[in-house]
Amino acid sequence: MAARRGALIVLEGVDRAGKSTQSRKLVEALCAAGHRAELLRFPERSTEIGKLLSSYLQKKSDVEDHSNFSLDWCKQPDVGLPKPDLVLFLQLQLADAAKRGAFGHERYENGAFQERALRCFHQLMKDTTLNWKMVDASKSIEAVHEDIRVLSEDAIRTATEKPLGELWK
Ligand code: ADP
Ligand code: MG
Repeated sequence: MAARRGALIVLEGVDRAGKSTQSRKLVEALCAAGHRAELLRFPERSTEIGKLLSSYLQKKSDVEDHSNFSLDWCKQPDVGLPKPDLVLFLQLQLADAAKRGAFGHERYENGAFQERALRCFHQLMKDTTLNWKMVDASKSIEAVHEDIRVLSEDAIRTATEKPLGELWK
């Protein structure tokens, strides 16, 4: 029997949309259903580059940063990475995200930057080579989880029939 590949599922959304909560719950549910699911953080902060990013985000170090990087420029390091089979966008108004608690103290954890990030997400969603699915993240944790689980199970079923793609290539 030919080896069947798994699905790469990405959760995206602004700060406090529920990415960490939902990715943990999804992996738990998939494992309980007999899948070999694994949670990966990207970037992984324990790697060399991850450590640099982490220290920069925690404002422990400074690297060149200016406001005029284009979205296209920012995409370049990720070109050719394994292409996600499903990108779930956890949709939440910034005002609702604010109700879930105060901003952290890392770089970019502020309203102005989150608005810019949201605009960039909308730009990226126009890319029809990626399988974006919108999820209403304003619902209860359990309701959002159920939506995500159903979409994910579907992606896992269809991914086995398709070759793994390369991102933005
Ligand atoms: P992210 O990883 O996207 O920044 P988190 O999963 O860390 O978001 O969630 C941010 C906060 O919001 C946490 O305190 C979490 O418990 C809470 N939260 C997550 N999802 C929901 C939800 N659907 N409704 C209410 N609160 C939520
Ligand atoms: Mg998180």
